[in-house]
Amino acid sequence: MGFLCIDIGGTNTLLGLGNGEFKVVRKVSSKKFLESIDSIIEELNQDVEIEKVAVAVAGPIDREKGVFYPPNIGIEKINLIEPLEQYGEVSIINDCTSAVLGEYCYGDHNCENLIYVTISSGIGAGVVLDGRLVEGADGNFGEVGHMKIKEKGLRCGCGAEGHWESFCSGNNLPEMAEQLTGSSFSDARAVFDKYREGEPDAEKTIREMKQINAQGFANLVNLYNPDKIVVGGAVALNHPDIVVGGLEEEVDVKTVNSSPEIEVCGLGDRSVLHGLRAICNDEV
Ligand SMILES: [Zn+2]
Repeated sequence: MGFLCIDIGGTNTLLGLGNGEFKVVRKVSSKKFLESIDSIIEELNQDVEIEKVAVAVAGPIDREKGVFYPPNIGIEKINLIEPLEQYGEVSIINDCTSAVLGEYCYGDHNCENLIYVTISSGIGAGVVLDGRLVEGADGNFGEVGHMKIKEKGLRCGCGAEGHWESFCSGNNLPEMAEQLTGSSFSDARAVFDKYREGEPDAEKTIREMKQINAQGFANLVNLYNPDKIVVGGAVALNHPDIVVGGLEEEVDVKTVNSSPEIEVCGLGDRSVLHGLRAICNDEV
């Protein structure tokens, strides 16, 4: 069955067209994609008769109406069914939920209790528990970045204080560094670069980041008792040695439940896209 999979991220959109497997995968900026959906799909120009369209979005969705509220793109809301239903039957899913499904079906993990955590512009999670995908009441499961980790701290994008992603997401790490050390860094990459050079304020920031991440992961372990946690998202994929290295040991001392394996996700930045392929291939 021919399919079109669309992973609309906070910055970039990945499109995958195929039948069973992907024939072509392409990356465009999310802003560009949402502004010119038709022409970008037509440019894929492959000999595939599309019957199903699966879309993953990084942000809240109203599945019944097919409306998506993009958090960082400068567009308040967009109806995804209207422009896409001409190509086939459309399903919409949260991006982390799709990612855990992709890893579960195609990531070679061989376990029935799997968590995917993304650390990117925000922090979120997808969960397969007892072999079943967890989606929640209206498909918005997994906003774990908004769990409170500290009583006081930085203001989160949602308005509350002390949330996990208000410290450790790629967007907020420089602000955490500034509050903690007084030093300013242009972006998250600069914090990691300076850390690698041994700069003391960057070292202090990364130490704090590791402690807060460990607490976030420990909370997930106590809640879900997973066999394994896989970590994706640009911050983790660009700095796996710093973000994921040593995390298992740090989490172990904070949990009541037995500590799972924690590793970088096997499918890299295509976990979400493969989850959409799993939906189109009726793996769920
Ligand atoms: Zn929040």
